[in-house]
Amino acid sequence: MPKFLFLIALLLGLSFTTVSAQEATVPAVDQTIEDRLDAVLNAANTETSLQQLTEIRDDLTAETPVMTRVRTLSYIALDYAYLGDQEKALEQIEEVRRIAERSGLPDAIAEVEATALLIVAMQGKISQAMANLNDALIPLESAQIPRVKYFVNNLAAYLYQQRSQFDRALEHLIYAADAVAETDDSRTLIRLVSTKLQIANLYTQQKSYDLAIEQLDDAEKLANENDLMKQVGADIMLQRAYIESDRKNFDRALGIYARLRDQLKDNPDNVANYLTVLNNMGDVDIRIGRYEDARRVLEEAYTVAKLNPQQFKPDIIQFNLGYVDVFLGEIEQGLNEMRQIVDAAREAWAPSEFEELLGEYADALIHVGLHDEAIDVLIEQRELREEAYKGDQQKSIAELQNLYDSKDKAMQIELLSQKNELNQQLIENESQKRTILTLFVVVAVFAMILVVLLYRAAQRSNRELKVANSKLAEQSVRDPLTGLLNRRALQNKLRTPHKVGHDAMLLLDVDHFKRINDNLGHAAGDDVLVEVSKRLLQVSRESDLVVRWGGEEFLIYLTNTEQSKLPAMAKRMLDVIGSTPIQSGDREIWITATAGFISYPFADLHENQMDWEETLQLADMVLYAGKVHGRNQAWGVMALNKPFAEVQKLLETDLPGAIEQDAISVEILHGPEQPKP
Ligand code: GH3
Ligand code: MG
Ligand code: MG
Repeated sequence: MPKFLFLIALLLGLSFTTVSAQEATVPAVDQTIEDRLDAVLNAANTETSLQQLTEIRDDLTAETPVMTRVRTLSYIALDYAYLGDQEKALEQIEEVRRIAERSGLPDAIAEVEATALLIVAMQGKISQAMANLNDALIPLESAQIPRVKYFVNNLAAYLYQQRSQFDRALEHLIYAADAVAETDDSRTLIRLVSTKLQIANLYTQQKSYDLAIEQLDDAEKLANENDLMKQVGADIMLQRAYIESDRKNFDRALGIYARLRDQLKDNPDNVANYLTVLNNMGDVDIRIGRYEDARRVLEEAYTVAKLNPQQFKPDIIQFNLGYVDVFLGEIEQGLNEMRQIVDAAREAWAPSEFEELLGEYADALIHVGLHDEAIDVLIEQRELREEAYKGDQQKSIAELQNLYDSKDKAMQIELLSQKNELNQQLIENESQKRTILTLFVVVAVFAMILVVLLYRAAQRSNRELKVANSKLAEQSVRDPLTGLLNRRALQNKLRTPHKVGHDAMLLLDVDHFKRINDNLGHAAGDDVLVEVSKRLLQVSRESDLVVRWGGEEFLIYLTNTEQSKLPAMAKRMLDVIGSTPIQSGDREIWITATAGFISYPFADLHENQMDWEETLQLADMVLYAGKVHGRNQAWGVMALNKPFAEVQKLLETDLPGAIEQDAISVEILHGPEQPKP
């Protein structure tokens, strides 16, 4: 199996010595130490780098600016990770995280969190890193230091690339390039070249070879003009060769690899590239049937890899050698070698890599006629794929949850900054109030409204936090399929004493959902539920609670919403669900939903007369009426026209009768037209 380039090493290989324009808002650094840290990036190997970093750490004092301390300690954590000592790396991260959090500096927090994610990603736990990516991206929005912006965006690009989300990856690389543009020093050019290389790498993975080659040409031209080929020449050629072999231009690929091999042979700093070259040469030789050539080059690679196991897994090469043996007729020995590696890799390798290994092992077994054994191997491979598929589903749920949490966090950050602004405003106004009394009155009124809103919002989120915290230990408040709040979460919230303003409830039920399960399978049904949840979150506001109420029933609890706004809101919900089909695998599924909505409290009735559950029951009854009247519509209970005591029984037992006798008024809205089946 060929190895793709591991570009993440490039992320850190770049230093930023000068700080850009808005000096005032950029966190302070100790320039002398920063220069020393830049120099560390040129260290010959990780041991030397760690040695130098330890010396720098010993020179840090209480007066050293936070950013410089954080950078030093983060680098140390990374070096431990590079040396394979995860435990020390994580310990170090905890220490830096405390410093960063205490400082409250977004640059510091972004740098620490990104470093932590990088360490997790280095262990191959890409989905775990993805799930926590916002820990770094949210502080990044307020970060000022180009070096930090460059680093964090590069990391985000790398992670998205690993998950094949190429458009996102590209977006972050462009941000990284913007960060480069904010600097103007001796290293700007190399950063530019490296960014181009990474973009090329992205295009290669997408198999957009022409675009990739364009970037490589650009990068090479820049590198040539500015004497940078020594640093990046090998990476450029390695990518070119990889593209050629992917395009089945095997002789051209081998030509480039051969030149690279000669260049890298005696360069101890570039063992990883050298081994990648040899392994990939062997791979090409195998693909065109030159087994003797393959054996020669792989044996050379194996000797070097055994001395540098951190740089390149010797197992991969040994496995390829076994494959060659089999095809050269040394079947017994070859299969034995392969089997050993497979057995060891089963526990140790990332599933995606191991799955690829199994495919090649099965190939060899088929070649020698061991079909029964091959079938077993292929079954194991298929099971792994299925697991990976399931894992993917879990990942998307984790990401959905993450999306929700990040909305939450974003709101908290906004509240905080509003609060700060408010404080400042109050102080300024105090000193000017004699001269600009009129203005003051206006501002004060606004300020008071803001205070009230903030106070209420703070109270509300405090309550939510308390409830969530105390219950979390015994029960979960989220639905595992959709990541939405579950029924219990809402009950907890509403049963805790709280002030009700002008709230409202909208209950929504997917139409004919059972048919989707019956006709397309339960998994397609699940896809529909997940997508409906996303769409509901999209059209709801931060303050709304979107709840999975039952199987295919959703409840949106709206706070502070005037009744007059409700019909438009209900219409928006029907539209977002019914206007575009839902993608499930290759299929497009058109669905509609029926909804019932009502203000709470309804018609100014006291909680003792009609509590929220009784109110919701009324919404449920009009929803049912909507079903009966043809579905794809929303019914809203808008007014109570007779004294409550007089019509209470009727409302509870006979809704159509209540409508007919004009005890209540309803408003009906229709969902979007559906395509004819
Ligand atoms: P109507 O338009 O009247 O609402 O008809 P419907 O089929 O949508 O409603 P019904 O209550 O008859 O069927 C709901 C189905 O939803 C039954 C149940 O098997 C299915 N369901 C409940 N929870 C889940 C789930 O988590 N995943 C899937 N795929 N199906 C679910
Ligand atoms: Mg239902
Ligand atoms: Mg239904």
